[in-house]
Amino acid sequence: ALTTGIVGLPNVGKSTLFNAITQAGAESANYPFCTIDPNVGIVEVPDPRLQKLTELVNPKKTVPTAFEFTDIAGIVEGASKGEGLGNQFLSHIRQVDAISHVVRCFDDENITHVSGSVDPIRDISVINLELILADLESVDKRFSRVQKLAKTKDKEAVAELEVLEKLKDAFENEKPARSIEFTEEQQKIVKGLHLLTSKPVLYVANVSEDDVLSPDDNPFVQKVKAFAAEENSEVIVVSAKIEEEIAELDGEEKAMFLEELGIQESGLDQLIRAAYSLLGLQTYFTAGEQEVRAWTFRKGTKAPQAAGIIHSDFEKGFIRAETVSYNDLVEAGSMAVAKERGKVRLEGKEYVVQDGDVIHFRFNV
Ligand code: GDP
Repeated sequence: ALTTGIVGLPNVGKSTLFNAITQAGAESANYPFCTIDPNVGIVEVPDPRLQKLTELVNPKKTVPTAFEFTDIAGIVEGASKGEGLGNQFLSHIRQVDAISHVVRCFDDENITHVSGSVDPIRDISVINLELILADLESVDKRFSRVQKLAKTKDKEAVAELEVLEKLKDAFENEKPARSIEFTEEQQKIVKGLHLLTSKPVLYVANVSEDDVLSPDDNPFVQKVKAFAAEENSEVIVVSAKIEEEIAELDGEEKAMFLEELGIQESGLDQLIRAAYSLLGLQTYFTAGEQEVRAWTFRKGTKAPQAAGIIHSDFEKGFIRAETVSYNDLVEAGSMAVAKERGKVRLEGKEYVVQDGDVIHFRFNV
C-alpha cells in the first residue's frame, strides 16, 4: 500500500500528531491490505460524498476507504554521514511514497528546541539538506560510469548524463530534485534513480492552540507558506495538541467540539486529504443495498485493475463496469433515474476510472 512518512526534527510535535492519527485510527479488521506495525497508523479518508451516497441508497453498512501514515523517527543532523540513526532514517524514507514534514511553529519556552530557537525554515533546511546530500551521493556514484558511456555516444547514457548534471547542479545549490523541471522523458530517468528529494512533500505547520483560528497571523506559518510555494509544495496547518484531543472524540462529540472552536474541518482531516491527493490517490464508490463503500485507486488505473482492488476474481473475470459519476447520480437522485437519463455508462477494459465514479462491476465467475 502507498504510504506517507511523517518526518521532522525532535520536539516539533511528530509523536503528538502520530498519536492523533492512531487514536482516530481505523479498525484495521476492515482493511486487511493495511500493514500492522506500531509505526504505521491507518486513517480513514474523510469524504462527504460517502455520507450523501448513504442517504441516497440507504445501505446496511457504510465503509470509508483508508490509507497509511508511517512514523519515521530519528533524523539528526549528519544523517547522510550515517550519524546516529542516520542510515536507518534514510532507508525508511526510501520506502515511503510521499513525505509529511512536520515543522514547529509554536513558541513554548517549556519545550526545548533542538537548535535553541523556533525557526521553521532552518528546521526544514536541516532535514532537506540531509536528503539532498544522500541524493548527491547516489548521483555521484552513477556519474562517472554514465559519463564514460556517454563518450561512446550511447544514446541512453547521453540522455541520462544530462539529467545527472542537472541534478548535481541543483543538489550543490541545496535544491531538492522535486524543484527542477524535467521533460517527460527525463522524468522517467529521474524515477529510475529512486531519489529521496524527488518524493512529493507536504509541510505540516504545527501551531499553538491559540493560533488555529487565524494561522496566517503566525509569522512562522507565513514563512513556511512562502518557502513551500517556491518548490510547489503544499502546507497544512495543525495544532498537534488539539488534534490529539479531537481524535479521542467520536462523530457527534467531534462535530460539537469543532463548532466550539469555530473550525470547519480538523487539521488532521485536512492533512489526511492532502496526503491522499499528494500520493496520487483517488476514490471510486460501490453503492449497493448491503454496503456503500469507498475504494482507493491510483490515478490512471483502468477498470479491470480497479475491480481487482475489491477482489482478484473481479479483475480476472472482468466484463464491464457500469459507471455513473457521483455528480450525475446525486443530481438524478437515484440509480433508476440516472439510468433513464442515460447517465449510466457501460465501460470496458480500457476505461480509465475517474475520481467519484460510482461503479457496478460485471464479471464472470
Ligand atoms: P516529537 O519529538 O517531534 O515527536 O515531539 P512531541 O510530539 O513529543 O512534542 C514535543 C513536545 O511539544 C511535547 O511536550 C508536546 O506536548 C509539545 N507539543 C506538541 N504539539 C504542540 C502544540 O501544538 N502546542 C504546544 N504548546 N505544545 C505542543
